[in-house]
Amino acid sequence: MKLNETQRSLLGGLIFDSEAPGRFAVLNPADGSTLCYVPAHGAAETTQAIDAADAAFPAWSALTAKARSIILRKWNDLVLDHLEDMAMLVTLEQGRPIRETRGEVTYGASFIEWFAEEGKRAYGRTIPATVPGKHLQTIKQPIGVCAAITPWNFPISMITRKVSPALAAGCTVVIKPSEETPLSALALYALARQAGLPEGVISIITSVKAKEVGEAMTSDPRVKKLSFTGSTPVGKLLYAACAPTMKKVSMELGGNAPFIVFDDAEIDAAIEGVLASKYRNSGQTCVCANRILVQAGIYDRFTAALVEKVKEMKLEPGWLEEATLGPLINQKAIDKVEHLVVDAVKHGAKIITGGHVDAQGPLFYQASVLTNVTEDMEIFSTEIFGPVAPLFKFDTEEEAIRMANDTPFGLAAYAYTRDIGRAMRVASKLEYGMVGMNDGLISTEVTPFGGVKESGIGREGAVEGLEEYLSVKYISYGGLGAI
Ligand code: ADP
Repeated sequence: MKLNETQRSLLGGLIFDSEAPGRFAVLNPADGSTLCYVPAHGAAETTQAIDAADAAFPAWSALTAKARSIILRKWNDLVLDHLEDMAMLVTLEQGRPIRETRGEVTYGASFIEWFAEEGKRAYGRTIPATVPGKHLQTIKQPIGVCAAITPWNFPISMITRKVSPALAAGCTVVIKPSEETPLSALALYALARQAGLPEGVISIITSVKAKEVGEAMTSDPRVKKLSFTGSTPVGKLLYAACAPTMKKVSMELGGNAPFIVFDDAEIDAAIEGVLASKYRNSGQTCVCANRILVQAGIYDRFTAALVEKVKEMKLEPGWLEEATLGPLINQKAIDKVEHLVVDAVKHGAKIITGGHVDAQGPLFYQASVLTNVTEDMEIFSTEIFGPVAPLFKFDTEEEAIRMANDTPFGLAAYAYTRDIGRAMRVASKLEYGMVGMNDGLISTEVTPFGGVKESGIGREGAVEGLEEYLSVKYISYGGLGAI
């Protein structure tokens, strides 16, 4: 499967058909084929992009919020006008089924739309003065040039979730997308320019030299903020690298989401929740249910009902309309999933369905369910990032909460119960930035996304998402006489 003509013309001038020095190949994970080639940028190009962002900042930040909003809204409309082509582009470079990537495009656009509006509400405050003749005020100003480093698992929305609030606030942004999914980023860029975004306000650094680009971004004092979504080890490294120039950071890192199903849960709803939360994007999201904790009284019934549904899933190349699961992103991802399953089985877990790489191709991992999984297995403490559901057993509410919180991560957690008191107790005690209570799909543009503990710093989306790109200035007007 190749890029179609509309996608090619969308990416015109940004991609190449042949290999050459200074380019790298973009691969289709479903069949290993090369889709096209993109520029392999490094530190020099990153610094040039920062120069451009720095030069563009005064004019962009001087526009009214409404003027910026008009461009953002046009960008949103153009992304939605190209929904099918954008969705297929994501499917081709990431592997995710087309029926899900349409959602990725609309989810991505929703951040542009939301922040186009929210940028108009970057309100300051007037604070009652403590002495006569003064007027105390706060104003919010764009923080300046920003850098964004994004992952491959949501190649559109992880960019728009950072870039839209930044642009709405009046910031300019240098973006390094994942080396696995540069085409979605380039398509977004092309549409932003079509929408009227001035040159230099955003730049895309396609690169296989992540470390070098990261260093160019973090060491440059003109960059005032870094927003990163990716793995916890890289996040920690970048956080440290931002310290010498005291950059503001947003870090959206790994998770290890518990999904608790109590005896009193509505089982069908809980199964729907697991299917949505665990198998979406073939298990490759940081809010995917990673540990499914099931109360002893319903463990067997729940397992049987879940397995029945999992067996109905269609593992196929993502461009086929009926596919519900696609290939994983690369061999490293397969190796990790295989290792975790083998380790669990070695320590006593049972594979009820799946459990292997599928005959369709080296990156296709079967939808899997494991039972008899226990806390001493690596799969309890490691983010799986694959379509494997490990079912742990617990007896009491206290035990479920202890197990759920027994991790350095704290991004998303889920629980299913029909007891309102238990729902409120559990939601309050879970040490997570987000809780889905009887809800397996919680991400929206209007709610704050982010974690606690080693899952990160800051929030994306919602009112909070705009604040990340604004700094508060307090102004005291003195000597005003009686006012
Ligand atoms: P994943 O394993 O999900 O790819 P990573 O944290 O490795 O997670 O990647 C997320 C993003 O961070 C990607 O854009 C990747 O290129 C980038 N990245 C990886 N290592 C570094 C680094 N040392 N410095 C800056 N960016 C990095």
